[in-house]
Amino acid sequence: MSANPFIESEDQEQLRATARAVIARHAPQRDVRIWDEEGSYPEHLYREIAKLGWYDIVADDEPLDGMAGLLIALCEEVGRASSDLVALLNLNISGIRDLIRWGTVEQQEKYAEPVLRGDGRFSIAVSEPDVGSDAASVATTAERVEGGWLLNGQKTYCEGAGIPGTVMELFAKTGDSGRKRDDLAVFLVPSDHPGVEIRRMPALGRNISGIYEVFLHDVLVPDEALLGEPGQGWQILKERLVLERIMISSGFLGSVGQVLDMTVEYANEREQFGKTISSYQGVTLPLAEMFVRKDAARCAVQRSAAFFDAGLPCETESTMAKFLCGQIYAEASALAVQLQGAYGYVRDHTLPMHHSDGIIARVVAGPPSVQLNFIARSMGLRGN
Ligand SMILES: Cc1cc2nc3c(=O)[nH]c(=O)nc-3n(C[C@H](O)[C@H](O)[C@H](O)COP(=O)(O)OP(=O)(O)OC[C@H]3O[C@@H](n4cnc5c(N)ncnc54)[C@H](O)[C@@H]3O)c2cc1C
Repeated sequence: MSANPFIESEDQEQLRATARAVIARHAPQRDVRIWDEEGSYPEHLYREIAKLGWYDIVADDEPLDGMAGLLIALCEEVGRASSDLVALLNLNISGIRDLIRWGTVEQQEKYAEPVLRGDGRFSIAVSEPDVGSDAASVATTAERVEGGWLLNGQKTYCEGAGIPGTVMELFAKTGDSGRKRDDLAVFLVPSDHPGVEIRRMPALGRNISGIYEVFLHDVLVPDEALLGEPGQGWQILKERLVLERIMISSGFLGSVGQVLDMTVEYANEREQFGKTISSYQGVTLPLAEMFVRKDAARCAVQRSAAFFDAGLPCETESTMAKFLCGQIYAEASALAVQLQGAYGYVRDHTLPMHHSDGIIARVVAGPPSVQLNFIARSMGLRGN
């Protein structure tokens, strides 16, 4: 990132330009719409991403200078195509980063190398039927047995878990100390491992990655499946989430930019009552306001990335950025559908996809009320 977070560095500009060209070539709107409708995974795109070395941004042992700044430029461009594509990109980037930070050299070779080559991918399995925002309450168990660990339980909503070649970062409890966060551990589990059963959950959106239920029936994994130490799961998750929130927030900004551009184009062309609808303030003012709010949200993302790259704590800042960007994606995509009238509702462009994906932008990586609770505590509101 440049010294000024609001002015892009040359590296950021270059990466953004490359990403824009790659997305135009490998993920044009008409293809994204088809992937979303058919629920199909664009393997070629992620192979291309690996080939271009985008994962290398996080793959060094030492954090790269300006890493978060590069990632926000990248995610914003991918987000113009689809926030779902950003989600898949984030799973791989965050997975590689977790392996670099917490894994052994052998684990990095076994689990991260295939993703870096474009052959493999990561997903994360925290949520369970009875565990959502209260992530520390994971009920899936990992029992120490001869030859490794025995996993039993059920996970839900695991994005991309059913795509062939996926390794899940699966959270399980290794004991019952009474301090839930101290009992968590992360296991690296290929989704085709014996005893793992995966079922796709039909959903309103996020159809490219898909969300999956994962059933674990006496799943025996070797010792080297454990990432870090037993009891480090909470720390791994907490640290991972900071950069993850920054990346997906920027992805949402890209999607907002796309739906606003589509709506401006439509409003300038569509004529009613003898004038283009962009002549009517009922159309232009809400769009202008959304544009202002998007820019304010972008400042929050840029600040978080600048803090991250400067090595400063930014859990609160990244939470605020995610809160704003999730909110604005949901609102901008709903507004875009409304302003494009009946045309906004038909599936011959990506607006309906953005609308469905925008709804869930508020929930993934933390629903608004849970995020506001966290922000309230950071303001000094303690409760009892
Ligand atoms: C598309 C999609 C992709 C996902 N991907 C993954 C994935 O890859 N891996 C994974 O593990 N999970 C994933 N999830 C699950 C996601 O992480 C959860 O949806 C999220 O953590 C919230 O949990 P929940 O939906 O169970 O809601 P809950 O936590 O049950 O919350 C329900 C409602 O109660 C409110 N609420 C809860 N607690 C509080 C509180 N303390 N104060 C105020 N209000 C509160 C919330 O705001 C919310 O409105 C995904 C979900 C979706 C829809």
